[in-house]
Amino acid sequence: MEVQASAPEKPAMPAFRIIGVLHRLYVLMESAEGLVLMDQHAAHERVNFEKMRRAMEQGGVPSQRLLMPLMLQTSPRDADILKRHLDSLSRLGIEAEPFGPNTFKIEALPTFLKTDDPLAWLDQVIEELQSLSSKSSSLRLGEDMIATTVCRHSVKANDKLSMPEIQALLDDLFACEMPYCCPHGRPTLIQMSLNELERKFGRLAP
Ligand SMILES: [Zn+2]
Repeated sequence: MEVQASAPEKPAMPAFRIIGVLHRLYVLMESAEGLVLMDQHAAHERVNFEKMRRAMEQGGVPSQRLLMPLMLQTSPRDADILKRHLDSLSRLGIEAEPFGPNTFKIEALPTFLKTDDPLAWLDQVIEELQSLSSKSSSLRLGEDMIATTVCRHSVKANDKLSMPEIQALLDDLFACEMPYCCPHGRPTLIQMSLNELERKFGRLAP
């Protein structure tokens, strides 16, 4: 594998040789120390989260206006949580406007979002915001928490990635400030050292 020169202020990316992908989820890589596994879902989450946070610092996440606005019907409880977070959602590229008692007109969605069913996607986001908000004592959720939720649901599970896509994901991950965990704190990479492997195979005394 060719290691590209990285920007001077970033730590150098470790030299990994990509071996393949296990169950469309774990990327297997060889490192100098042994075997490295990357959870592609967690890695995507980290990359999207940092991109989103940078965009928010610069005024908002790029969004795309829908040709035909979507009508989102909600329960009164969901309507309430949506209303409380409309400005944060707007900074995340989701333009929603109250339209009748429990209906919202969705006029724009973030450009990074790739989904065939945006209303189902919004339902998932709202459901998670609901469960986060039930655990929180304050009326409004923090913007970082909302960003985490939005980008968690923007990552497709078990997406089949090509080799260049895996390489790009790895490069993007190591361009992040915190490459080693997803925004929820789950690891993106785990390593199994040669030493560990040798123990498991009984080559070394335990
Ligand atoms: Zn996560």
